Amino acid sequence: MTAHEGEEDAWVGAAKIDFMMPRLKTVYETKKSDKMEQAHIAQVKFWLYVLLKSGIEEAQAIIEYSKQRERTQVRLAAGEEIEIEHWLKEIRTILESNKCPPTINKPVCKQCSYYEFCYTDEV
Ligand code: SF4
Repeated sequence: MTAHEGEEDAWVGAAKIDFMMPRLKTVYETKKSDKMEQAHIAQVKFWLYVLLKSGIEEAQAIIEYSKQRERTQVRLAAGEEIEIEHWLKEIRTILESNKCPPTINKPVCKQCSYYEFCYTDEV
């Protein structure tokens, strides 16, 4: 692990963690979003998974919602490690496929980095 106390943008394996306090085994993520989304929790659970695989057990994540001045604590529950490994397997399958998965046509698409890629008609 290369993270140091209070270091920003720490890389742990394949994960780029915005802010981490190693002594507290706590990683932090700040969101400007108006609401808590499952994707936010999935992001920090992936970080916790990477930390676990790096030998750091029982770490926690704090997601801070700056607009609402609220914070959510996230921990990996028993068995979630297996679920995350399933996510990674699905991601590998998509990466190895010659076809993009179908668009999901959800409101979240308008905030997604891939919006133009998914919804711009090919000429
Ligand atoms: S815009 Fe983003 S969320 Fe929507 S289908 Fe494309 S990749 Fe998925």
